[in-house]
Amino acid sequence: MKRLKSIPFNKPYLTGKETKYISQAVKSGKISGDGLFTKRCQQFLEERYGFKKVLLTTSCTTALEMAAILIDTKLGDEIIMPSFTFVSTANAFVLRGAKIVFADSDPLNPNIHINSIESLITNKTKAIVVVHYSGIACNMDAIMRIAHKHHLVVIEDAAQAIDNYYINSNGNKQALGSIGHLATFSFHETKNISSGEGGMLVINDERYITRSEIIWEKGTNRSAFFRGEISQYGWVDIGSSFLPSEIIAAYLWAQLENIDAIQRKRLEIWEKYYHELLILEKKGIASLPRVPAYSTNNAHIFYLVFKSRVLREKYIQHLKQHQIQAVFHYQSLHKSSYYQTHYTGPSLPMSDRYSDTLLRLPMFYELSARDVQFIIDTIKKLD
Ligand SMILES: *Cc1c(COP(=O)(O)O)cnc(C)c1O
Repeated sequence: MKRLKSIPFNKPYLTGKETKYISQAVKSGKISGDGLFTKRCQQFLEERYGFKKVLLTTSCTTALEMAAILIDTKLGDEIIMPSFTFVSTANAFVLRGAKIVFADSDPLNPNIHINSIESLITNKTKAIVVVHYSGIACNMDAIMRIAHKHHLVVIEDAAQAIDNYYINSNGNKQALGSIGHLATFSFHETKNISSGEGGMLVINDERYITRSEIIWEKGTNRSAFFRGEISQYGWVDIGSSFLPSEIIAAYLWAQLENIDAIQRKRLEIWEKYYHELLILEKKGIASLPRVPAYSTNNAHIFYLVFKSRVLREKYIQHLKQHQIQAVFHYQSLHKSSYYQTHYTGPSLPMSDRYSDTLLRLPMFYELSARDVQFIIDTIKKLD
């Protein structure tokens, strides 16, 4: 087993079948969207995870934009979401005139702090968007209960949560993305399963199914036309071009075929990090990720939460000197240069804490046991 000379934070994994399937798509003569590879991916994902309907999209960003249109987001609507998330979670709703109501993160992990949600609900609240940070489940029973009580839509930003499960109070496993009314996933090259750029919208609430296909196809009823349900298609609603080409879907299919191997490998790396770095927690240097009893683990990210920002910087520089790239993550959106002037809510100390002290370690399929050991040893050398 070789050790990498310089260890990047991420390296996209190639299963080896990508170019074969892309070439099949090209030779088939149909390379626009909604073809055989798209259907194959969608069906696989629906069956494996119990999603009611899947539509592949060009990204998780565009899947979120579709979700914002589907729930009829209008000027002045309020959307609750954690501040510790990617800009696209918020942008999709800002594009439709909504006001974002940012919630704090949980002290135990960066997911939305459940107890903070109800005090943020007003008569203008339309939806709660939860983010399963690092793939780890939010407490979905609690969230669905709150949403039901206040007649709110729940959208799961499951960008990082492919192949992970929520374990409900009866001990049953439900795939993340199958619980909210809608859910969005990313196949960006930094995610467990990737097509370079790519994503999907999951529609679990049947009321949204017909319209979702129309929005996906530029506001036309072309999908129904292709199925022979109508004799001609036309402009029936707002929409955009949200569907990926067959070239992207062909690439994605090669990845999905290998999902079990990919997940197994990532979990091995995650667990090695966890067991070997527990010592940092004992020494009071950093805390390790918590996987609550209601969540399984898809090993999307392995992160450390340092005691201070200064300490994090010290570790980043130390790792860099040994050619290891470790990176921090989101900066609280309520403090972003775009949104801070609009933000009128309370301070969000946990969100800021994760912005300042969370560090992600390299995590990708080709990371060998020797690489992981080298990273661990390098970290342990500094204290
Ligand atoms: C990656 C990510 C996105 C955006 O995904 P794209 O496919 O790059 O648009 C959105 N939300 C979260 C939480 C993400 O991690």
